Amino acid sequence: MNGTAAPTRVLVLNSGSSSVKYQLLDMADESRLASGVVERIGEEGGVPDHAAALDRAAAELRERGLGLDSPQLAAIGHRVVHGGTRFTAPTLITDEVVDEIERLVPLAPLHNPANITGIAVARRLRPDLPQVAVFDTAFHATIPEAAARYAIDAETAEKYGIRRYGFHGTSHAFVSAATADLLGRAPGDVNVIVLHLGNGASASAVRGGVCVDTSMGLTPLEGLVMGTRSGDVDPGVLLHLERVGGLDTDEVDRLLNKRSGLLGLCGANDMREIGRRMAEGDESAQLAFDVYVHRLRRYLGAFTAVLGRVDAVVFTAGVGENSAAVREAALRDLEPLGIVVDSVRNAVRAAGPRIVSAPSSRVAVAVVPTDEELAIARDTYELALRQ
Ligand code: AMP
Repeated sequence: MNGTAAPTRVLVLNSGSSSVKYQLLDMADESRLASGVVERIGEEGGVPDHAAALDRAAAELRERGLGLDSPQLAAIGHRVVHGGTRFTAPTLITDEVVDEIERLVPLAPLHNPANITGIAVARRLRPDLPQVAVFDTAFHATIPEAAARYAIDAETAEKYGIRRYGFHGTSHAFVSAATADLLGRAPGDVNVIVLHLGNGASASAVRGGVCVDTSMGLTPLEGLVMGTRSGDVDPGVLLHLERVGGLDTDEVDRLLNKRSGLLGLCGANDMREIGRRMAEGDESAQLAFDVYVHRLRRYLGAFTAVLGRVDAVVFTAGVGENSAAVREAALRDLEPLGIVVDSVRNAVRAAGPRIVSAPSSRVAVAVVPTDEELAIARDTYELALRQ
């Protein structure tokens, strides 16, 4: 490359509630030049706040000779958790866009402020560069009203923006498209159920590349059982805890977000530890696994009915990509739905996208590693090139 070649590098920033992850990619060949994470923001032994975390990330890149001042940097992409109904596609960041993301803070009080700080610091460091916001909610903007609306008083819902937004959208979009690729078919021709099973977990129903339903809702709390989040509970549980248990709002929030899910059921939120304990005959670990799998099967059945025809069920993220036991249990005895897992293929540990169903399975079962940073970098680069 000579000195006048157009810059092709994209920095992706993912500012979470207590960590900042970054990746530098060269979009000429989509190679990863650097990646890192600054953790424990605001905690003992960590950096004091998000601005300090971003400074640390910038310093780490500079030490590797990949500083933000590089003329090879084409753009910076930011993961933004909540785009509300306003943002339905990756968006070039302007002052007005930042104001709008700010207005959405009540919908994502833990996440959007961190994202806004990330954007502010990056714009201060490189005001000359295009910066792009890629929203976790955007892929779900196509969900029809019948699936997006909660059956509550319409005026109240409207006043407070209460509807299903969905999250992990970048992952669901990336993985559903990659699954079509793996099947050798056009995305528009395939119906896919995506099971994103990480520490957070969500399912989505994607018809011909278009999302038509998803398990997360107004917040990332609804749906599947997660590492520390409950997923679906009867809303009456909250009322009961407040009325009878005397818990206040913050206590209920902490209970459902931080002390529930796998952790709440058995004291461990890592599926590897749960697997080890199950092998030793630990009953609470077994119960946690069973509740987790039961919930998955409910969503699988529901989204099968939503889609009508399912071409593939695809597993992704930490648990989905690595736990053969979860995949096997989630799909056991589903031959009547056209789903037959090949136990040998399913048990093989591998890194790339792969099919783990039997040749006789009408529905393909796939494992496709997600790559949200690459997806964000692609969206960012594409928008930057149009500037
Ligand atoms: P993620 O949020 O996608 O990074 O996923 C993190 C979760 O993946 C961890 O909390 C673990 O429960 C799970 N995980 C990671 N590796 C494995 C593995 N080899 N087997 C089972 N679960 C795993």
